[in-house]
Amino acid sequence: MVKAQDIRSDGLELPLVEEFFSIQGEGYHSGEAAWFIRIGGCDVGCNWCDSRFSWDPVVHPLVTTSDIVQHALNSGARSAVVTGGEPLMWNLDPLCEGLKKGGLKTFIETSGSYRISGRWDWICLSPKVNMPPGKDICLRADELKVIIENSDDFEWAEKYRLLVGEECRLYLQPEWSSFSAIIPAIVEYVRKNPDWKISLQIHKYMHIP
Ligand code: SF4
Repeated sequence: MVKAQDIRSDGLELPLVEEFFSIQGEGYHSGEAAWFIRIGGCDVGCNWCDSRFSWDPVVHPLVTTSDIVQHALNSGARSAVVTGGEPLMWNLDPLCEGLKKGGLKTFIETSGSYRISGRWDWICLSPKVNMPPGKDICLRADELKVIIENSDDFEWAEKYRLLVGEECRLYLQPEWSSFSAIIPAIVEYVRKNPDWKISLQIHKYMHIP
């Protein structure tokens, strides 16, 4: 059986969980069509994670990056969203090069817990308490998306607001399983702190991946 340490560090193969053409449900690009590439592997361990199936990279097939790129190009999408798991566990330079060479915009959803690789048109940073991001990726983030599970998370959101650039868009997103309990507090918070916007996971309401 393949072990995580056997996965190539040159990024020419990646553990692929799934790839699909759908609608971005969260954050700044919410509502836009995109090709999604979900890469396996994550050791951040968020207790409310809705992608646990992606955590163990070795249960997902290693697929050549050139094939992953070709599938994205064949989709007809204008942009590819690379997500996980935590995709920055792997070298994403070849993946981005291939996608960009084919004319796709490259977007990433990351906790920022690992060193950044790849060339990105849009970085959505969602910092996690278990493995906080470094300062470099905070400064490069186009979008800060903080998951709010309870009222303590507002303080966490403000901490990272101070670390991102001035142009970075700010989103608070209710943790899905706590939605009913926490949404009134988020609405109230945004009324008082209008630099933040609310991000809802609209793909879940549409019952699409
Ligand atoms: Fe899940 Fe993302 Fe947290 Fe990893 S970083 S445990 S994939 S929510």
